[in-house]
Amino acid sequence: MSLQAILDRLRAAEEKAGRAPGTVKLIAVSKVQPPERVEAVLEQGHRLFGENRVQEAQSRWPDFQARFEGISLHLVGPLQSNKARAAVEMFDAIQSLDRPKLASTLARLAQERGACPDLFVQVNTGTEPQKAGVLPDAADEFIARVRAMDLPLAGLMCIPPVDEDPAPHFRLLGEIGARNGLSGLSMGMSDDFETAVALGATHVRVGSAIFGARSAG
Ligand SMILES: *Cc1c(COP(=O)(O)O)cnc(C)c1O
Repeated sequence: MSLQAILDRLRAAEEKAGRAPGTVKLIAVSKVQPPERVEAVLEQGHRLFGENRVQEAQSRWPDFQARFEGISLHLVGPLQSNKARAAVEMFDAIQSLDRPKLASTLARLAQERGACPDLFVQVNTGTEPQKAGVLPDAADEFIARVRAMDLPLAGLMCIPPVDEDPAPHFRLLGEIGARNGLSGLSMGMSDDFETAVALGATHVRVGSAIFGARSAG
C-alpha cells in the first residue's frame, strides 16, 4: 500500500513542473482491487477514486459511501448508453464520453435530473482501432457538439498505446484542450504520471502503483 509514496511523487512532479501543490488531482483507480485494499486507502483519508465498470462500482461503493464522507467517483471505463442512467446516479465525473449517441442520452438525463456529472471527452490519441475515444481529427467537432447540448464539459482524457512513449500523446491531448479552451486533462497512469504532470495533466489516474497489482480483469 503506497498512497503516501505516490502523493509524495505527485507533489515532487508538480514542483518540478513549476505547478502549485495540489493542482493535480490523484484519482485512485480501484477497479478489480479487493475491498480491503480500497478500504485501507479510504482509511488513509483519500477520497477520489476511479472505476472502469458501472456494475462493479454499484456493487461496492454505496457501502463505502455510507461509512466515509466526501467520496468522489470518476468513471474511467467505457459507458454503454443503456448504463448511462446508473452511471449518472453513481459518478461525479464520466471520463469516457466519446460518441454523439451517448452525449444525447446524457443530455436527456441531465434535463430530467437537473444535474449532470462533469464530463471528459475521451480522445483516442493513438488512433488505435480497438480503443474507445474520438479520433484526434474529429475531436474539435465533437467537443463543439457536446457544448451545444449544454453538457458540463470539464476536459479531455486519453489512454496512450501501451508500447509507445506517452509524451507525444499527452502533448496532443494538451493541444486539443488548449485550442478548445478546455483546461481539464486526465492523463497519466502508474508508469507515466510524472510525465503527464510535466505536460499539463490536471488529473492522473493511478491504480496498481497505489493498490498493488490487479489479480484479474
Ligand atoms: C486501469 C486504469 C488506470 C490505472 O492503471 P494503472 O496502470 O494500474 O495505474 C487508469 N486509467 C484507466 C482508464 C484504467 O482503465
